[in-house]
Amino acid sequence: MTALDLLETIRRDESLDSSLNAFVSLADRDALEASFGGRGEAGRRGGGGENRALEGVAVAVKDNLVTLDLPTTCGSNMLDGYRSPFEATAVRLLREAGGIVVGKTNMDEFGMGSSTEHSAWGPTLNPHDRTRVPGGSSGGSAAAVAAGYVSMALGSDTGGSVRQPAALCGVVGIKPTYGRVSRYGLVAFASSLDQIGTFGGTVHDAAALLAVISGHDPRDATSGNRCALSSVDVVPDPATAGLSGITIGVPVEYFPDTLDTGIRHRTERALDHLRAAGATVREVTLPNTDLAVPCYYVLAPAEASSNLARFDGVRFGQRVSAWSVAEMYEATRRQGMGPEVKRRIMLGTFALSAGYYDAYYGTAQRVRADIRADFERVFGLGVDLLFTPTTPSPAFLIGEKIDDPLEMYREDIFTTPASLAGIPGMSVPIGSVQGLPVGGQFLAPWWEEEMMIRAACVLETALKES
Ligand code: GLN
Repeated sequence: MTALDLLETIRRDESLDSSLNAFVSLADRDALEASFGGRGEAGRRGGGGENRALEGVAVAVKDNLVTLDLPTTCGSNMLDGYRSPFEATAVRLLREAGGIVVGKTNMDEFGMGSSTEHSAWGPTLNPHDRTRVPGGSSGGSAAAVAAGYVSMALGSDTGGSVRQPAALCGVVGIKPTYGRVSRYGLVAFASSLDQIGTFGGTVHDAAALLAVISGHDPRDATSGNRCALSSVDVVPDPATAGLSGITIGVPVEYFPDTLDTGIRHRTERALDHLRAAGATVREVTLPNTDLAVPCYYVLAPAEASSNLARFDGVRFGQRVSAWSVAEMYEATRRQGMGPEVKRRIMLGTFALSAGYYDAYYGTAQRVRADIRADFERVFGLGVDLLFTPTTPSPAFLIGEKIDDPLEMYREDIFTTPASLAGIPGMSVPIGSVQGLPVGGQFLAPWWEEEMMIRAACVLETALKES
């Protein structure tokens, strides 16, 4: 099926009452056709890049990555209909590689959430069970891949927003090392944590998309200097990949009593496969793991409170008119932002306020350094990779956690530590529990995506054959 056919299928399905609501906007067929120069998809005029690894491949893009042809709303009323005057680097690179952006995907408002229920455009449903959430905040991208609309999609991961929805939707999700992919054109939530990531139906697809979008970008001062991944190195060949000589650490803190027993068994079975492929599996400890969620929920809101100050009705998106500028700011922000975003802005502003700054923000920064030191220590002890469950439980019901923010935040216990440390992580499907997919998470040292992807590929092949 060509990208244009896929686009028509998505348009039809998404217009039904029973739609997944995975997309918030879809590409215009005529405009896409025109961009192919009347020579069919294969003959489209690309941006001249030599790497045409995605020729004709349909890709979905999370709605917090700015695009020239489609609006960028971040799931917020504040940005209803907003059009960016420029394009995100990751989107530009995927188009230059021949990829076709078929649409923008639904998300928790500004990336704040773990269920895609906090979207001004309504929740996205999990394709495996439409009464359940797809995870979040990149739930639309994960659902679009799980439903088979696209084979790959872009998302963003600040505290787990690629890995957790990938796990709940039964697809692969990669969060690269902080700095691997340019954040230019990614609407900022918490800048020291935000990283663009990729989804794929297979490890191969998620890795191929990552290879296309990685690399240094002078427009993002936090992008690494030598961070381009070559598709030759990163896209694994399952036939030749083995794991002998590789040590995989299993951190005890990621197996608390509250862990779903089905997930515990699936994770243990996955570890058996990794052992059978030649890996040495060893128990390790990361003692500050428990502190990751509280630390994240001080730092991320603090950064968000500052980043979201720009949405005041002056430069971007919606404006509610009023008699004075101050009243205009207030009315615009009151109407434009949803309850979770307001909660985060208030939490963050409080954590940064005079008299409380050191107690909250300062303490959280010190805890962040301790969490990073935990990883440095285990990776310094000859451990090449870590393997854990991605989430504490399978997909929950729509509405189940929406009124209990702390329960929702607890979804992130296994994903926030890697975000705080800046290390790469990925979720791979490891089977299902009561008919719902669950994921296993690989974590790797800074810049070691290749090894992590290789191990994920070995596991994927072993699970397919078992
Ligand atoms: N669930 C986390 C949050 O609500 C992570 C979100 C993300 O990674 N964008 O902040």
